[in-house]
Amino acid sequence: MATCFICANHIPTAQVVRRRVYTGASVGGFNLSSNVFVNWLLNSAIRKRPTSVRSYYAIRTVCPSCAIALDKAERRRTGLIVTGIVSAAIVLTIVLLLMPAR
Ligand SMILES: [Zn+2]
Repeated sequence: MATCFICANHIPTAQVVRRRVYTGASVGGFNLSSNVFVNWLLNSAIRKRPTSVRSYYAIRTVCPSCAIALDKAERRRTGLIVTGIVSAAIVLTIVLLLMPAR
């Protein structure tokens, strides 16, 4: 019998759902902070341009109720990332404008 990756409950074989589960993210450049957002901001400031962000996903076995919760969370997360990147870009622009010209 399979076990849910999220809630660790046993799942009857007929109800097993395979989902792409978010396992983390990393930023191109130096690993200066464990916070992906802060790390992205620092690396972007060093390079003076936005660096790449890579998200990691893995296929995991989950139960039907966790699959529904994951789908909802994924939609919310996408919205949060977009909001985060937009506000980071604004902050970055301000930081770069305030930096003394060399
Ligand atoms: Zn579950």
